[in-house]
Amino acid sequence: MPPTSLGSLLAEVEQLVVDCYTSHDGLAERTAALIMAAEAAGDRRSADLARLIAAELDNRNGRVPEAVETARTMLGTSDDRLVRAKAHAIIAGGVWRIGDSATAVRHSLRSVRMLQPEDPITIRADHAIILAVLINDQGLDDFETAEFAAAQRDAEASGQPALEIANLNNWAWYSYQGGDLETAAAMVERMRARAETTGQQLNSSCADTVARVLLETGRPEEAGEVIQEAITNAPATDSDAVPAALLTLAEIERRQGDHAGAVRTLLRCRELAAEHNRQDADAEALRALAGCYADIGDFESAYRTMCEFHERWEVMRTQQSAVAARFAHAQFALEQAWDVAERDPLTGLGNRRRCEVELTAALATGGPVSVALLDLDHFKQVNDTFSHTTGDEVLRRVAGLLAAAPGFAGRHGGEEFLMVFQAGAAEAAEHCAALRAAVEGHAWGEVAAGLAVTTSIGVTEIRPGEDRKDALLRADDLLYAAKRAGRNQVKTL
Ligand code: GH3
Ligand code: MG
Ligand code: MG
Repeated sequence: MPPTSLGSLLAEVEQLVVDCYTSHDGLAERTAALIMAAEAAGDRRSADLARLIAAELDNRNGRVPEAVETARTMLGTSDDRLVRAKAHAIIAGGVWRIGDSATAVRHSLRSVRMLQPEDPITIRADHAIILAVLINDQGLDDFETAEFAAAQRDAEASGQPALEIANLNNWAWYSYQGGDLETAAAMVERMRARAETTGQQLNSSCADTVARVLLETGRPEEAGEVIQEAITNAPATDSDAVPAALLTLAEIERRQGDHAGAVRTLLRCRELAAEHNRQDADAEALRALAGCYADIGDFESAYRTMCEFHERWEVMRTQQSAVAARFAHAQFALEQAWDVAERDPLTGLGNRRRCEVELTAALATGGPVSVALLDLDHFKQVNDTFSHTTGDEVLRRVAGLLAAAPGFAGRHGGEEFLMVFQAGAAEAAEHCAALRAAVEGHAWGEVAAGLAVTTSIGVTEIRPGEDRKDALLRADDLLYAAKRAGRNQVKTL
């Protein structure tokens, strides 16, 4: 039965977000049903969110360009903050899969920063969990605990053990990869305890992390038991994670001197990898097999297997670059949509919507934030005395001066601009004073003989806990105080 009331539609969106973590069957069918039900009920938000969940499933099934295309279209057509945030999360997941970590982090940050405390907690937790992974997957040396801790708070607040366990698994895995075994072991214990109390079964991916960490902390037998159990009990829906678990099992067997067992396990891994089209697991299995053969002195088999591994590796590389090439088109289209949706065509600055996003991002850093409103003086006279074309050129040049200054500059509308500074009032006022002077001192004679342009500015810091709208109103009051006091000046409070 598809859900019908608006509340239950959004509830189904949230449930799907959670269920994506436990990889249950039927997600695609449920998502399709939800899109139809939401459309029928006229609930645009739930319909778009469901489309983005379908895109997430595309991402997972190797259809990255399609997923990114869906999310890109959404950014171009939807004004809904929640939908736009989720679109950024989907793009982050897509570009990460094809190896563009920096872009992934940028989108992921937006997906987190755009959300507000009143938004559904499962969606906030989902985006926070993704961000923690992406920040830690950039291949940087430093391991960032803060993002995992933040995601864990959201996951706990969501009351969804699946989200808590998924984040603890990621936390443990990246600690392990980063060589912090102590944290990895602590997170593994937390994860096992949480699974125990909530009755959630650890999936193959979690069991894999647990086994790796147990193995590295001197508990190979326990590691073997955990991974064996996960492999034996893996439901069909979790079976594509089994090849990775088999690789871990083979490593455990090999370290315990059971080379014959390890070879058997790796051959099984190759069979399953072929079945599920997991080239990466197959390549890893070949590499491990070569190691096993070398261990037991069978150098001919080791050499033959190593050659096979290299061939498989080449195939994978070729396929990856084919995806990347297809993706390049989607990426290009994405930048364009970005432009249409958030860029002012005359000046090239961010538009009002972009101003909102930048302000949210600045406030999310927790540091001081100041806003300034700038309005050109007697601009109507510039249009009247010279021409509208001259007026346009003035706007473009002022935009250039603002863009070159510290802080973010956007066109708020007409001949009015907004600036956002990650700074306190005093520092922001200094930047504004410099800008005022730069506008007045610009070589306006180049544009039209006898042209002079000045600007009035109101600047203020957003107070802790203050609604941004109140701060913008105060900046506006200050701007008009500057106008009344004779224009071409900065007022601050
Ligand atoms: P004040 O010092 O009090 O701000 O005076 P003002 O003349 O600048 O203020 P007013 O709001 O009366 O006029 C703003 C003018 O800006 C009127 C409008 O035609 C012009 N304007 C708004 N957008 C554009 C634009 O995109 N291009 C041009 N050339 N002019 C624009
Ligand atoms: Mg104005
Ligand atoms: Mg004006």
